[in-house]
Amino acid sequence: MNEAQHQQRQQRLKQRVDARIEQAQREQGIFMIFTGNGKGKTTAAMGTATRAVGHQKKVGVVQFIKGTWENGERNLLEQAGVPFYVMETGFTWETQDRTADTQACLNTWQHALKLLNSPQYDLVILDEITYMITLNYLPLEDVINAITSRPAHQNIIITGRACHRMLIELADTVTEMRPVKHAFDSGIKAQKGIDW
Ligand code: ATP
Ligand code: MG
Repeated sequence: MNEAQHQQRQQRLKQRVDARIEQAQREQGIFMIFTGNGKGKTTAAMGTATRAVGHQKKVGVVQFIKGTWENGERNLLEQAGVPFYVMETGFTWETQDRTADTQACLNTWQHALKLLNSPQYDLVILDEITYMITLNYLPLEDVINAITSRPAHQNIIITGRACHRMLIELADTVTEMRPVKHAFDSGIKAQKGIDW
C-alpha cells in the first residue's frame, strides 16, 4: 500500500468513527456487568471506581462475599471516601447454614438498596452479587426492580461468574472475562496486591 492509499484508508476510518461518536449522544447512567471465569472482574469494577473518584464522583461498594478479609482496593478507596459494605456475619461455606446465609445476604442487600435509591451516588458496585441470585438468597426480581428504578444518572456495576441471563439482557455493557491462563493452575500461590 502506498502513502496516498494509506492516508485515504485512515481518513475513511476516521469518518466512520466520527459518525459513530456523533450518533452516541444520549447521556444516562449505564448498567455494566463483568462476568465470566477469567480473572479481572472485581479489579475492573474497582478500576472504574478509581476512575470515577478521580473525577470527584460519588461511589459506593457492596461486596457479597464472606469474611472480613483485607483487600487492597478497600484500603485505598475507603480513604478516598468510598463506603464499603461487606457481607460479613453469618455467611460461611463451612456451616452451610442456609437460613443464616440468606439473612446475611438480605441484610447486605438493604445497604445496596440505600445506595441504589440515592441520587447522591454516581456509581454503585455490587461485587459478587451474581452468586446470591444463583443460590436463591436474593430474589432476581428485587435486583431487577432496584436496577430499573434507580436515579437516571446512576451507573451500576455487577460482578461475578454465571450471571443470570435476564441481567445480561438488561445491561448496557457486558464484558466476559475468559481464562486463557491463570497462574494458580500452574501452582503459583495467590498474592497480596495482585489477587486481593
Ligand atoms: P479479581 O478480584 O482478581 O479481579 P475476579 O473478581 O475476576 O478476580 P473471582 O471469581 O471474584 O475473580 O475470584 C477472586 C479470586 O480468585 C482472585 O484472587 C482471583 O485472582 C482468583 N481467580 C480469578 N479467576 C481465577 C481462575 N480462573 N483460576 C484461579 N483463580 C482465579
Ligand atoms: Mg471477584
